[in-house]
Amino acid sequence: MKDNQRLRRGFTDNDICKRCGQSSESAIHAIRDCPVVSGLWKSLVHTRYYNIFFTSNLQDWILCNLSKNMGYEEDLDWSSKFGITCWLVWKQRNQWVFNELWSIYFGLSTARDRGYKKVMLESNSSFVIKLIQDVSFTTHPLKRLILSIRNFLKKDWQVELIHTLREGNYVALSLAVHAHSLPLGLNWFNSTPSFCTDVYRFDSLGVVPLVGS
Ligand SMILES: [Zn+2]
Repeated sequence: MKDNQRLRRGFTDNDICKRCGQSSESAIHAIRDCPVVSGLWKSLVHTRYYNIFFTSNLQDWILCNLSKNMGYEEDLDWSSKFGITCWLVWKQRNQWVFNELWSIYFGLSTARDRGYKKVMLESNSSFVIKLIQDVSFTTHPLKRLILSIRNFLKKDWQVELIHTLREGNYVALSLAVHAHSLPLGLNWFNSTPSFCTDVYRFDSLGVVPLVGS
């Protein structure tokens, strides 16, 4: 169930897309229009079809892609490629909350192991923070992971969960981008990486850095 459906049924007070934070999460936004996935479609769809592909409503979009090759000439079975891509995008979208919760759990576990007594934990997902803090979420599929995080929070330390916009923590954003160049697994920095120094200054001043700076 997408967030705007949950909103109508009273399961959440937030219908904003959890991945981009920019738009209501309708079905067409989740699968096609979200900036997180639209680049993938642009790499698959032939540029001559961009207009019809990115402007049609959900029903027309599906019918059109099942009846016409919107890809390049070599895409002999476009309908299959389209269907598989939709499925992968949807799977990735559902994986997002799972990954976010795991990163919070792992971050708390690491901070605990290191002996920290005061921790500020920021997430750009108000939905994930609410999942952790709102004890009325008792039937969520990720209940065991959520309970493990809550048990961490009850321990003898001070942990503050804070919601921030992606633009409110450029250090985290630059670390996430940098992580693509690191080996898989936990990478621990004992000192501030040089690329974070200027970014931290922007964060502390509440200034948005120029793209590419
Ligand atoms: Zn989005």
